[in-house]
Amino acid sequence: MAWFKRTKQNIETQEKKDLGEGHWIKCPNCDEIMHKKMWENNFYLCTKCDHHFRIGSEEYFRILFDDGEYKELDRKVTSKDPLGFVDTKKYKDRLNDSIKQTGLYDAVRTATGNINSKECVICAMDFKFIGGSMGSVVGEKIARGIQKAIKEKCPFIIISKSGGARMMEAAISLMQLAKTSAWLAKLSENNLPFISVLTDPTTGGASASFAMLGDVNIAEPDSLIGFAGPRVVRQATGKDLPKGFQHAEFVQEHGFLDCVVNRKDLKEKLFQFMKYMHD
Ligand SMILES: [Zn+2]
Repeated sequence: MAWFKRTKQNIETQEKKDLGEGHWIKCPNCDEIMHKKMWENNFYLCTKCDHHFRIGSEEYFRILFDDGEYKELDRKVTSKDPLGFVDTKKYKDRLNDSIKQTGLYDAVRTATGNINSKECVICAMDFKFIGGSMGSVVGEKIARGIQKAIKEKCPFIIISKSGGARMMEAAISLMQLAKTSAWLAKLSENNLPFISVLTDPTTGGASASFAMLGDVNIAEPDSLIGFAGPRVVRQATGKDLPKGFQHAEFVQEHGFLDCVVNRKDLKEKLFQFMKYMHD
């Protein structure tokens, strides 16, 4: 029994549109299917099992800075390809393709803003830009981020997500370990705190330098954290690896991390640490 008659055809409600294809996301850990909006509003975590999806600098800036407002620094710094490196393709082409595909200029972005009204500088890495690899630009942008923190007398934070050194920059890439470490020492001389946030994955040169040099080292749950991959370690030691090897909780238990923090609590935790070390 119809009490009214539809006079116009093809009316679609907003709700129905939102439920269309491409608006759903599947958890790789438990197979739960979630609506994208719900997932985004849940800090990009699985609503069922809390799996922490890999996200980029933009998402972290939005989650951490008050009202999602921030000012980006040194946005367009790009690598010059000093070695004229070629592997399966020219490094120059790889860079240009990555810039086009991601809208980023390298594997780290720097921003200043407030966390609970406390000013800070954050460098956040992007894995989708050549595996979050650390080359000359990552080193330079971290150095400049530290200089900014020293100038503003505010805390400094790095959110790491990296496969390690950028092979296409060979030794120049390795020099960034020393460069970032030296600048972090300068930050320390200025009595300013450095909080390192290790996310999935933080390996190779990143874990061998700045990521493990925090006054506080925080990781997201279940993140892969290590230097060499499990296969290499197994070959080198000739031993079977323990369960949970190179995962955040295991690394914390063995004394390399101060705490493992759910992404939902990350902003509050960062604020507490900053307040405690720099008030
Ligand atoms: Zn899940």
